[in-house]
Amino acid sequence: VSESAAKLPSKILELMDGFRASKALFVASKLKIFDHLKDKCPLKAVDIANEVGTSICGTERLLDACAALGLLEKTPQGYSNTDSANTYLTLDGEYSLHGYIIHSNDHLWPLFTNLESAVKEGSRQNHRAFGRKAEDLFKDYYHSQEVKQRFMAAMHSIAHLTARDVATAFDLSQFKSACDLGGCTGALAHELVQIYPNLKVTVFDLPEVIANTSYFQPSRQHTAPVTFVSGDFFEDNLPEADLYILSRVLHDWPDEKINVLLSKISSVCKPGCGILLAEMVLDDEKKNRSTVLLQSLNMLVQTEGKERSGSEYRELLEQHGFTNVKIRLMGNLLDVVLCVKT
Ligand code: SAM
Repeated sequence: VSESAAKLPSKILELMDGFRASKALFVASKLKIFDHLKDKCPLKAVDIANEVGTSICGTERLLDACAALGLLEKTPQGYSNTDSANTYLTLDGEYSLHGYIIHSNDHLWPLFTNLESAVKEGSRQNHRAFGRKAEDLFKDYYHSQEVKQRFMAAMHSIAHLTARDVATAFDLSQFKSACDLGGCTGALAHELVQIYPNLKVTVFDLPEVIANTSYFQPSRQHTAPVTFVSGDFFEDNLPEADLYILSRVLHDWPDEKINVLLSKISSVCKPGCGILLAEMVLDDEKKNRSTVLLQSLNMLVQTEGKERSGSEYRELLEQHGFTNVKIRLMGNLLDVVLCVKT
């Protein structure tokens, strides 16, 4: 490295370029390039372009960029998937993030384009990005079958990736039944019944979601079935359970709505029953975890919620009679909080 290169502000340059790398990944995923390369010998750019129906010169540049970013391997024989592309980037990869990547491209990208307005106004930007703004973000997601399916696929992919860590962060074997409020496709619920075969797990979510869950169920199931119940957790009676799970739910809402939900849970919880939260947890000074702070901006552009610190979650839970609040920082996409009703 020459002396002048060493002086370049590499961190700033990397941040300036970040969106280009994200978009290259998104476009390669949208064009299903990683699926075309799966289980195949190396392919030349011209063959991939012909299969995908794209220009040769554009495809070659995209493939080269993906190879330089470590998503593909490039040899004189052509391009092939890395192991990580096979696992995470193909549609049917074991931990496919395809759903979340398409959601990022089609939904989060237009919202982030309006980050400046979100910061100026302090509110979500659905109307600017998509020309409509319903009373809450889920009404925006579920007004069309296509947008709903895309959102559910995104939640499913990310929840499947984190489910084992969430399910095993604490020993939950003292609980006989669990209700995953806002449990969406049941990705976490299915992991829970595998790890705790005696746990009866119910997924509770809005009717529009529950009507659409069959597509996401595991094809072969050797565990007790998960039960799906539809309802609105702000309005309707909650299913009875020893453990209520809220995974990536509280960050969607402001404190006032969280207080309504926690108060409902508290009123049906018997002493000894618990709440398990799965969220990205910020440090108290809100300065150390850039991924979580960027996720909080993501919440600003699309929800009324935000990411919170461990103390903020503890305070919310304690106000509703939940004590012995334990926080496990997992250091990846989700941290886990467990507390019990006294
Ligand atoms: N728990 C899943 C996960 O961790 O991937 C999904 C999280 S997603 C951000 C929030 C979920 O809460 C969605 O499935 C949504 O449909 C559900 N939800 C939102 N408002 C709800 C309500 N009023 N009643 C029941 N579920 C609701």
